Amino acid sequence: MTSASTNDIEFRSVTKRYGSVTAVSDINLTVPRGAFVALLGPSGCGKTTCLRMIGGFEQPSEGAVYIGGDPMNGVPAYRRPVNMVFQQYALFPHLDVEQNVAYGLKQMRPRIAPVEIARRTQEALELVRLGGYDKRRIHELSGGQQQRVALARAIVNKPKVLLLDEPLAALDKKLRTAMQIELQSLQRELGITFVLVTHDQEEALSMSDLVCVMSTGRIVQIGPPQEIYDRPASLFVADFVGKTNRIAATIEPDASAIRFANGVSLQKPSRANGTVGPALVALRPEAISIVRAGDATLQGIVTHRIFLGSSVEYSVEVDGLGDFLVTADRRSLDESALAEPGERIGLVFDPNAMHVFPA
Ligand code: ATP
Repeated sequence: MTSASTNDIEFRSVTKRYGSVTAVSDINLTVPRGAFVALLGPSGCGKTTCLRMIGGFEQPSEGAVYIGGDPMNGVPAYRRPVNMVFQQYALFPHLDVEQNVAYGLKQMRPRIAPVEIARRTQEALELVRLGGYDKRRIHELSGGQQQRVALARAIVNKPKVLLLDEPLAALDKKLRTAMQIELQSLQRELGITFVLVTHDQEEALSMSDLVCVMSTGRIVQIGPPQEIYDRPASLFVADFVGKTNRIAATIEPDASAIRFANGVSLQKPSRANGTVGPALVALRPEAISIVRAGDATLQGIVTHRIFLGSSVEYSVEVDGLGDFLVTADRRSLDESALAEPGERIGLVFDPNAMHVFPA
């Protein structure tokens, strides 16, 4: 096998143990060349361990990682066509911006000509929009600028794969959103494969082509962001990626209805996954509409209302079913239509948005 493979990264039956702890358990994963993939999951699920095995900082206990079609077992980190951006950036404080970015190129053997180093360094700095900052010291930069220096340093030697370990964690919300957009355009511009580790579902959904959801050392779902959000494969994914309401229900064999724990029956959802008997339904807050109390069979009392700018989030105590979260788009509401805390309202569920799982 050679680098002619169109898959940049492959995990083949990869397990990683640390003593008695199994951090990663029999993972199979294929990342196409030039894709932006996010490894998403709660703390301790094995994301960083996967990243470190791609980077060569850890070796699999079983199985193998392939990059560009080549097996990487036994290949040390510095020999891999891969660079990593760390959460803490790991910049050299005593060097200026240019020296930080050029550092890796200066270590390369055979040596690269100084003019070539200068040219590539400038090119990388321009790409991260830090042209003109060459002589600044690291402590003279903002958090966002330090992040860009770390990025420039990681792309300067044109790796095939860039690994990003929670690269935006240290930035405030506004800067993080701006950097998410920039990282995405940078990836498109460079055309190299990005692997991002994050526990922030919004970040994973907004930036990547492919989201790989992990739980306790395993991949539980992999797919494009919209598919993960709209068709979660399990309650775990529905809960972890986006907000969700869980509703206890029963689907009678041969019946065309779903009956909730409070006795209310609705038309059986299209996505019942063949479930019959006791079930749990996952329903997104935005798939519930608020109507006048008399206009719906499901009713409840508004307990809280939170303005989120473009949307309004309601907590509703639904009769016989408990607490629900309902999100309404502000555009679809005029001020007089806003339900008040304490008000009795009706709720309509979108049957096509109900995901049914066996209880
Ligand atoms: P986080 O989001 O908190 O960084 P993660 O999903 O990246 O978590 P990993 O760092 O990959 O998770 O860790 C997976 C599991 O392996 C955890 O249970 C962790 O405690 C364990 N682990 C990781 N590194 C080591 C190590 N060097 N020695 C022993 N156990 C380890």
